[in-house]
Amino acid sequence: MATIEENVIGIDLGTSNCVCAFFENGKAEIIPNSEDLRMTPSFVAYTDKKELIVGQVAKRQALNNPHNTFYSVKKLIGRSNKEVDINKLQLAYNVLAENGLLKLDCPIMEKTFAPEQISASILQKLKSDASAYLKEEVKKAVITVPAYFNDSQRQATKDAGKIAGLEVIRIINEPTAAAISFGLDKCDNETILVFDLGGGTFDVSILEVGDGVFEVLATSGDTQLGGDNFDEKIGQWLIKRFFEKENIDLSNNPRAIARIKDAAEKAKIDLSILQSIRISLPFICNIGQKAKHLEETLTRKDFNKLTENLVNRCREPISKAINDADLIISDLKENVLVGGSTRIPSIQNMVESFLGKKPNRSVNPDEVVALGAAIQAGVLSGKISNVVLLDVTPLSLGVEIVGDYYPT
Ligand code: ADP
Ligand code: MG
Repeated sequence: MATIEENVIGIDLGTSNCVCAFFENGKAEIIPNSEDLRMTPSFVAYTDKKELIVGQVAKRQALNNPHNTFYSVKKLIGRSNKEVDINKLQLAYNVLAENGLLKLDCPIMEKTFAPEQISASILQKLKSDASAYLKEEVKKAVITVPAYFNDSQRQATKDAGKIAGLEVIRIINEPTAAAISFGLDKCDNETILVFDLGGGTFDVSILEVGDGVFEVLATSGDTQLGGDNFDEKIGQWLIKRFFEKENIDLSNNPRAIARIKDAAEKAKIDLSILQSIRISLPFICNIGQKAKHLEETLTRKDFNKLTENLVNRCREPISKAINDADLIISDLKENVLVGGSTRIPSIQNMVESFLGKKPNRSVNPDEVVALGAAIQAGVLSGKISNVVLLDVTPLSLGVEIVGDYYPT
């Protein structure tokens, strides 16, 4: 167990974004990174000068440096080439199988990296930014993983921490971390549903919660469904509209595509609060000497129509998780929303109508997992006392008990 003086940070090591938090004065708080952002994109790149860059800067240059920019590494960590068909991966960088292990090819460095080495680069940035913010070297962390992660994926996540110089004192399940930060540990044996829609993945978990014990009863989801798909729909719509108006196909123009991708994500985010938005991409391409501009208006109603199928794809995993847990909808006492994409109003409406109950949205959905990890860190480092948090994943999900019993 850590000593009282030591800072133990909580880390949500996400597929798209990472968030770091710590516990102080009875409360979990987000640690902003060195660019003063509360979230660090899970991107790592080597530039043409062989310089390592991480986070927002790496994400920004991704489309100009596709073979040396690594992202969505969480989908590969701790997995063998038997589990992942490398020919079916739709990633801009190359993944190789070396002695049964997955390796990420980095042409500029003329070497390959294990997924945990790339995750370690992200963790190293989080560690160093947190140390600067807290004015003390951070050496220990609680890191979250999806509930369905098996032993090998959990171990590889721990290894990534070790490479980054962090002792991972506990790995906890993301839905458990979310439930902790919603304060659901005080529940009296209730079953809850955690709906987590991130950037590239969808996870739904059913938890039994009571007296500080969190048991994952079932998990389901879709590893190919997330906010990126919503961006793509807007992007495809913009390309189609431009073709209809100008008879110019932008899909072969990488510079235009990069700008459309950014604009699409921004449009989606704005539509979470506005009913209608204007997308303006001046000088999107040139025809001869003449510059062309892309100008469109997108309403929330049209966005909902474009993305209706994506929203509906969330339904089946919810039903499956409830069935696998041997429950019916009315058994669920609470449903909580996690992940940036649950800010999309049509997602909130679908969950509410499907489960017949307003989701609990009292904590910021993209920070909730990191905050829960920080509370767990607070319990483990002795700051918070008289609390026992036990995170249990049944054997049927491929893992034994996660975490030990810490009497207070
Ligand atoms: P992950 O857990 O996969 O790392 P996050 O929980 O950080 O991901 O979610 C990232 C996704 O959330 C991105 O697709 C991003 O565009 C989306 N997102 C963030 N804010 C909003 C918003 N206000 N409205 C809609 N989508 C959002
Ligand atoms: Mg997440």
